[in-house]
Amino acid sequence: MEKLNYHYQDAWRYTTTATCQSPIDVVADKLVDGPAMAIDWSGLTISPLLKKEQVIGDQFFCHGKLVIDGQTVELVRFHIHDGFEHLWDGQSGAAELHLVFKRADGGTLVLAVFLDENPQAEAIFKPILDGTAAKVDLTTFLPKNKKTMMTYMGTLTTPPLKKDVEWLLLKERLGISPVDVVAFAQAYPDNYRKVQPLGNRSVVRHQITSLP
Ligand SMILES: [Zn+2]
Repeated sequence: MEKLNYHYQDAWRYTTTATCQSPIDVVADKLVDGPAMAIDWSGLTISPLLKKEQVIGDQFFCHGKLVIDGQTVELVRFHIHDGFEHLWDGQSGAAELHLVFKRADGGTLVLAVFLDENPQAEAIFKPILDGTAAKVDLTTFLPKNKKTMMTYMGTLTTPPLKKDVEWLLLKERLGISPVDVVAFAQAYPDNYRKVQPLGNRSVVRHQITSLP
């Protein structure tokens, strides 16, 4: 299947009129402090997994939920970007995992988990990419230490760049195996969109109160 060509991504902007797009560069000095977020992570457990090749890149369909400040959001799918899409003070990293959720009102929320290479980590993503994993343990996708979340409103980062997407960026990172880093580079080389202007948006920093 022909895949989205990231070399021609400047042409994608014509697929939307949105000015508040994603990804963005998260600049520490410009963060706005917001209220604490109460997050129940316990709905992310072991799920059946279905890999589907799509033009925008492989999507992995699974089930799970998060409860954020009393609101439940349902996990629909996840995918991986080889290299960060969101930058942190202009800095990139090994990979960015996007967990795509549906809100009760039909809106879209994406939880981004930033992945750094850690030689001590076990390979958890390669069997998933290879299609040999029928189930996935979603708890292994999250760092143990979850203290800080950045939120802002943006778009999806692949055409048609759907608007009004709520982004949650987990500041604490997950260490992943060099085996996984190589697998991402082979399967999805440089499939990241360039950062977009922040415009008049704010990126809000929340302390996380993990429940229960
Ligand atoms: Zn993505």
